[in-house]
Amino acid sequence: MSYDDMKKKCPNIKENLENCNCSYTSCDKTGLCCQCLQYHRRNQELPACFFPDGVEKTWDRSFRKFIETWKDKV
Ligand code: SF4
Repeated sequence: MSYDDMKKKCPNIKENLENCNCSYTSCDKTGLCCQCLQYHRRNQELPACFFPDGVEKTWDRSFRKFIETWKDKV
C-alpha cells in the first residue's frame, strides 16, 4: 500500500500532523507516525518529534544527537 493510500485510511492523520514538528517538508511519510518511526529505527535514528525544534532543523536524528541533546535534562 502506498503512503498516500495509508494516509487516506489513517484515523489519526489530522492529529498526527498537528503534533509533527518535522521540517523536512518533502518527506512522503509525514503524518504516518508508524512508518516514520520504523524508517528512522531502521537507520538507528529517532523521528523529528523526539528533538526540540532547533535541533530538529539540523536533520541529525541519530541516537548520538538524541543523547547529546537530552543528557543534561534527565
Ligand atoms: S521525521 Fe523523518 S520520516 Fe518522519 S516525517 Fe520527518 S523526515 Fe519523514
